[in-house]
Amino acid sequence: MSKRIYLSPPHMGGEELAYIHQAFDTNWVSPAGPHIDTFEKELGAYNGIEYCAALSSGTAAIHLALVILGVKPGDEVICSSFTFSGSCNPIVYVGATPVFVDSELDTWNMDPVLLEEAILDRIKEGKKPKAIVLVHLYGMPAKLNELMAVSRKYEIPVIEDAAEVLGSTFFGQKAGTFGDFGVYSFNGNKIITTSGGGALVSKNEDWIKKARFLATQARDAAPHYQHSEIGYNYRLSNISAGIGLGQLKVIDDRVRQRRANFEFYRGALGHLPGISFQPEMSGSFSNRWLTTILIDPSKTGGITREDIRIALEKENIESRPLWKPMHLQPVFQQFPSYGGGVSERLFERGLCLPSGSALSQEELKRVISFVL
Ligand SMILES: *Cc1c(COP(=O)(O)O)cnc(C)c1O
Repeated sequence: MSKRIYLSPPHMGGEELAYIHQAFDTNWVSPAGPHIDTFEKELGAYNGIEYCAALSSGTAAIHLALVILGVKPGDEVICSSFTFSGSCNPIVYVGATPVFVDSELDTWNMDPVLLEEAILDRIKEGKKPKAIVLVHLYGMPAKLNELMAVSRKYEIPVIEDAAEVLGSTFFGQKAGTFGDFGVYSFNGNKIITTSGGGALVSKNEDWIKKARFLATQARDAAPHYQHSEIGYNYRLSNISAGIGLGQLKVIDDRVRQRRANFEFYRGALGHLPGISFQPEMSGSFSNRWLTTILIDPSKTGGITREDIRIALEKENIESRPLWKPMHLQPVFQQFPSYGGGVSERLFERGLCLPSGSALSQEELKRVISFVL
């Protein structure tokens, strides 16, 4: 059997181990230490945003953003339906109700028209949403101009779930820096990894200070352990931050490599009837975290997404359907949702192709030989 080709494996840059050794040499083997502080500064500078808190995951970052915005049990929070459950689980952690909004077909992200409809309908029901979790999928920025205009019109804060878009830009500005909060993830499958980790960014210094305070068990200033608030153990470790420092050195290479994968796949498959790709609207620059294709069986002679996925799996090649929309998930289907048909169709027809930044030309050719 040929060596397995994974969907999106970690790809070290080379300097990560030196940072880990440095942490051991200075005994900062702890969820505190100089690598964490440097990682926060460098990640903030890369994204062009003032304040950044390094955390244990992207999910933890969304959770803290909701806590800091004061979302309480019984409140409602709008979230993209087409996403990974990490976007909306934290809404339930704080006792609030997720309200799902469907995608549009230009970017596959939240539909601004439906967002406004959903807000107006919730207000009519007597419940103005407390926040919006706006997700950018597979590297592609959402329609930020329209979505941010709606959020400002109704004065509802936005938490940008930028877990999949580190390095992507919208009219030159980094995705994740448009909302009141931005969230990044450094899980093992993301464009860069800390072996598991995340970050919360904002222009508001007090909020980020509060995030660090809550992430370290909410200790008041006292010689003993004194608490006036419920805290969390959500800080990134100094070892993980060291991996992050090594990875940040190569982030621009990683974006180039992932975009090159996309160009390869589009060149090889783009002319086939019934196969299409996630569009990149003018003004948007995607990191192409994952190359995703849509397969329309009415134009492929009956070949479906599952036919291709199973054929690849037989050759030891990992691929995966697009995210199953949250409004279809057993655990979330009782919650309100607006629209749904667009993400349902994307889920039915969409496939994520192997997209690691270390894929060789031979491996890419192996993948397309089994898609064709
Ligand atoms: C990965 C991911 C998250 C969660 O990040 P973790 O660091 O794994 O907690 C949230 N939202 C989206 C869209 C993601 O892809």
